[in-house]
Amino acid sequence: MDSISCPECGSDDIVPIRYGTPGAEMLQEVEEGKAVMGGCVLDEESPVGLCRACNHKFGRLGPL
Ligand SMILES: [Zn+2]
Repeated sequence: MDSISCPECGSDDIVPIRYGTPGAEMLQEVEEGKAVMGGCVLDEESPVGLCRACNHKFGRLGPL
């Protein structure tokens, strides 16, 4: 999620939202603040990015 900025506030402090059952790699990313967990429930409208400046979630996964 490099060089993506928040559509709400323009911040580039963006982390990707990961879905599904967290594995060791995902847990490590979350622990290091490189990603957040979106849970196991997802659909086409699920957001893919989270702005840490304003907590706005944006984007969509699209067709699964
Ligand atoms: Zn923002």
